[in-house]
Amino acid sequence: MRMNSAGPAEAPGRNAAAAVRTATTGAGIPDVAVIGAGASGCMAAVSAAMEGAEVLLIDANDRICRKIYATGNGRCNLTNLRLSQDPVLGDLYHVGGGEDLTAFFSRFSAADHIAFWESNGIRLHDRQGYVYPRTDQASTIAEAYEKILRRLKVRIVLNERVTGLERARGRKDRIGHASDLFKIETHTGAAYYARKVILAGGGMAGPQYGCSGDMYALVAPRFGHTVRKPLPALVQLLSDDKSLKASSGVRCSAMITLYIGGEPVCSDSGELQMTEKGISGIPVFQLSALAARALEDGEGVLAELDFLPELSDKDWEQEMVRRLREDRNCMLSVFFLGLVNRKILDLIFRRRGLQAEKKASGLTGEDLTAIMRDMRAFRVKINGTGTFAQAQVTSGGIPLSETDADLQSKTAAGLYLAGELLDVDGLCGGYNLQWAATSGRIAGEGAAKACKSPNSGAYGEAREKGSGQDQIRKKRRK
Ligand SMILES: Cc1cc2nc3c(=O)[nH]c(=O)nc-3n(C[C@H](O)[C@H](O)[C@H](O)COP(=O)(O)OP(=O)(O)OC[C@H]3O[C@@H](n4cnc5c(N)ncnc54)[C@H](O)[C@@H]3O)c2cc1C
Repeated sequence: MRMNSAGPAEAPGRNAAAAVRTATTGAGIPDVAVIGAGASGCMAAVSAAMEGAEVLLIDANDRICRKIYATGNGRCNLTNLRLSQDPVLGDLYHVGGGEDLTAFFSRFSAADHIAFWESNGIRLHDRQGYVYPRTDQASTIAEAYEKILRRLKVRIVLNERVTGLERARGRKDRIGHASDLFKIETHTGAAYYARKVILAGGGMAGPQYGCSGDMYALVAPRFGHTVRKPLPALVQLLSDDKSLKASSGVRCSAMITLYIGGEPVCSDSGELQMTEKGISGIPVFQLSALAARALEDGEGVLAELDFLPELSDKDWEQEMVRRLREDRNCMLSVFFLGLVNRKILDLIFRRRGLQAEKKASGLTGEDLTAIMRDMRAFRVKINGTGTFAQAQVTSGGIPLSETDADLQSKTAAGLYLAGELLDVDGLCGGYNLQWAATSGRIAGEGAAKACKSPNSGAYGEAREKGSGQDQIRKKRRK
């Protein structure tokens, strides 16, 4: 991938932020302002700058990519090779309005994402299709973004939370066109102007990384947008079933099937974590967005746990028949020994009001069969989910249907949206950072290209003829 080879820019930080503020209140009104320097905002800023736009990037945190450092358990699962294998995107992403993401991913795919990093000297590797930086350090990606942004002369303002966004009608842009600019206000009282704005402030997941969801209020309803209720996703599921306490702390292989309104809707398998308050682990996370939405809609939600997922139905039946033929003059825990974690057995016994010490001979074949069945289909009533602080992603947000193919707002020209702010959330496995990169790339390129359109004033022309300030002075002399 060809990169713009602009020279080094100011190091991001407080001094750089102050310099930017001065510049933007003078002649240097940027073409594109990106609000939010997370995964989608950084890609948007890089993409707009690569198109030749002057870019301002603002974030409330004291450094860029704050959340990226925490991703993938500190290793940053950037994307997934499954996306290159003609997947059914609907199986990997939840999109509130059910829109198809194919057109977006065909413009910036997982392969493009990988090529982007490799062309910037960041080696990647994959584990069963899950792609990470070769260093296995999420900081590599954050630092690489900082390096690329600096090279592209993107101006970075940190420690400023955007609190207001409005049209500044009648103001002249930096090349003297009386175009409508956006006015961006921050909590410090500073104001910035830009010709196009990309909102990339994330959703509500991970408030500890700067995402409070306040960006929804900047555009809805002011700029004609709506917000589908944000809910925590990729998060644990909670139950008020007190018996779960017996198995708290157990990690085991399991398959989980989610039932909504009594119907099985999806399954996933992997390492399940039993907690005092519910169930957790990757397979639970994968089902959590659907569970959260169903609970919000007042539907009944159940998780059915199969603690012996590797056994076929036939193997399981044979196992049951074999055990029932064995000597039953032993404790229940001994009769069922070697099948599942002892604490899981205790959980099943407790649910049935049995003691592990009770003799198996005291139970009928039917009772023993029922216990075996519980190991294959243990049902947990789900009452809630973990909090946004525990969630990896937000389900809900601004509907994709309210944006065009370039992720420009359909109700507010010049305003673009990217990343988790939109009502798109993916499964665990690199799919969310891929969406952040894809949407950031599309919005960044779209905003930069729109600046070049005749109605918008061409920054290409501005560069050839001098700065905007020069243009204005020349006109006055005439
Ligand atoms: C613990 C954890 C682990 C994860 N691991 C992975 C993983 O390995 N792979 C994967 O694909 N996904 C992972 N995710 C999800 C992924 O990190 C997010 O989906 C992705 O970062 C979203 O990118 P974004 O740019 O939309 O938002 P964010 O990365 O959340 O960035 C938004 C930025 O906007 C800033 N901001 C917000 N409001 C304002 C405002 N008003 N003014 C100024 N700035 C503002 C915030 O400070 C923040 O820096 C993980 C998430 C978490 C929490």
